[in-house]
Amino acid sequence: MPDAALDLLRRTFGHNDFRGEQAQIVQHVIDGGDALVLMPTGGGKSLCYQLPALLRDGCGLVVSPLIALMQDQVEALRQLGVRAAFLNSTLDAAGAAEVERQLLAGELDLLYVAPERLLTGRFLSLLERARIALFAIDEAHCVSQWGHDFRPEYRQLTVLHERWPEIPRIALTATADAPTRREIAERLALEDAREFVSSFDRPNLRYRIVHKDGSGARQLIDFLAAHRGSSGIVYAFSRKRVEGVAEQLQAAGIKALAYHAGMDSAVRAANQRRFLQEDGVVMVATIAFGMGIDKPDVRFVAHVDLPKSIEGYYQETGRAGRDGDPADAWLAYGLGDVVNLRQLITQGEAGEERKRLELRKLDALLGYCESTACRRQSLLGWFGEPHPGACGNCDNCLEPPESWDGTEAARKALSCVYRTGQRFGVVHVMDVLMGKPTDKVRQYGHDQLSTWGIGRDLDERAWRGVFRQLVAGGLLDADVERHGALRLTPLSTPVLRGEQELRFRREPERAAARGRDRRRGTAAALPDLAPDAQLRFDALRDWRATMAKEQNVPAYVIFHDSTLRAIAEAAPADLDDLSRIPGIGASKLDRYGEDVLQHLFDAD
Ligand code: ADP
Ligand code: ZN
Repeated sequence: MPDAALDLLRRTFGHNDFRGEQAQIVQHVIDGGDALVLMPTGGGKSLCYQLPALLRDGCGLVVSPLIALMQDQVEALRQLGVRAAFLNSTLDAAGAAEVERQLLAGELDLLYVAPERLLTGRFLSLLERARIALFAIDEAHCVSQWGHDFRPEYRQLTVLHERWPEIPRIALTATADAPTRREIAERLALEDAREFVSSFDRPNLRYRIVHKDGSGARQLIDFLAAHRGSSGIVYAFSRKRVEGVAEQLQAAGIKALAYHAGMDSAVRAANQRRFLQEDGVVMVATIAFGMGIDKPDVRFVAHVDLPKSIEGYYQETGRAGRDGDPADAWLAYGLGDVVNLRQLITQGEAGEERKRLELRKLDALLGYCESTACRRQSLLGWFGEPHPGACGNCDNCLEPPESWDGTEAARKALSCVYRTGQRFGVVHVMDVLMGKPTDKVRQYGHDQLSTWGIGRDLDERAWRGVFRQLVAGGLLDADVERHGALRLTPLSTPVLRGEQELRFRREPERAAARGRDRRRGTAAALPDLAPDAQLRFDALRDWRATMAKEQNVPAYVIFHDSTLRAIAEAAPADLDDLSRIPGIGASKLDRYGEDVLQHLFDAD
């Protein structure tokens, strides 16, 4: 590694060392090579083009699909003292002309530009007259029409290679699967580029899945109790759910905001801004909220409803813990979710083949949810990456689930579905099993059936678990046309005939699960700071919030939590000590050093 790159990493960015494959990638691009970089969210992709852009002659041109993302990146770079700018529709004519002038005058190190702007004849001819260090194509999966981020303009980016074959190109994405990777290489004419594929493991994320009691709101609030004062995202299934959950959280005294595509766009934008700029906002959202959210200190992503696929789940949970500090990926689901999602798919507009594919993806996710294996191993395995298991940071590793012989219970449940005519939902079938004389039971004479009351040995919770696992395992089907009426599938036959045994996950005790969450026992978190360090940390956070407001930038652009924590712990006495703390480069030391020392002094 040339000393220049390491020196720049330390001096300007304030990081001590390269992470993962960053060093090799940076070297390769500095030397003029093309690269295709696959790295998970939070892996550190930006440095892979920012450093070469600074070290090569000319300006690095970054193609980026989202305006919000560009602005944050540029702001973060300016704080580091890097000469960065963007060109997009938010600039007026004079602003754009000034950026163009700076580009031609060689006054820029990095220029972020939207693809549609880049492709205009006018801009391309401007580039002819500028010195370009490299082309970086961020979120390169936007070139794939199979993903949900497809951007047709990305396909025309081959023009860069045609017109400037000698300028290195680096394409980056966090989308891992092999077909997308091939499509990126092909569509962007990067077949000869060197591929850098990182592990997609996110070791700092703690995966945890719980089974819903009712709507899951109570469990969510208990889970959030362990995350007081942290920023996080709660994903819900529909706009209505988003609004309902946000209200419930607000009523519980949590600083929660809502975000979905049906909201007034000004309110939506304001909520997003607050989430980015303030500390400790919980955003309740549909999956419309996501791409472009590169806030590093999101401490949890909670799914209060089942996502649609393992890919979606991985991508959404990936927005937690980009800064590498411990973060939670929590999911609550129940049988109702399965019914809702199946309904959404089967009654949707898509063609038959697409629907079958989506149902298969949902089944794969259900299999993952019910599995007793290490979550990390299952997830990475799904993406074709081997993992030895026993990660020590998922629910199944931390509290190995007990299983029980559910053959007998399954037979009772399946028979009861059959005897009641495969026309009723889980609530009624459970009432019959447990011998509850409801009006509906009497109306249909179900207290006369041979399966009436044969399930009194298990409680409601246990039965709910049995039915959920039978549906997840494909032995029962919830008929979406008939409000979730349960039907037997061919897979149930061997169990009914006594030819197959079944083992189920034991449902955890409700009280125990709650008590644990309350005591923070299950939340992924760094160890508590010592009391005096905590005081300093709080003072620094308040100071940072004021600075962020003053400059109208997100707090993390000024300093990351991890940097404030390190300062609070080290309590540096002077600028020299302060400069040795990770995350403090020359420019930030210059800008904020005195202020930070003053606030440390005041806090002590
Ligand atoms: P990605 O774009 O891959 O999601 P980013 O480039 O935004 O990731 O980086 C994620 C986080 O990791 C950022 O907060 C960044 O400051 C930090 N980071 C990146 N490289 C390093 C490094 N070598 N040392 C320490 N922190 C790093
Ligand atoms: Zn594990």
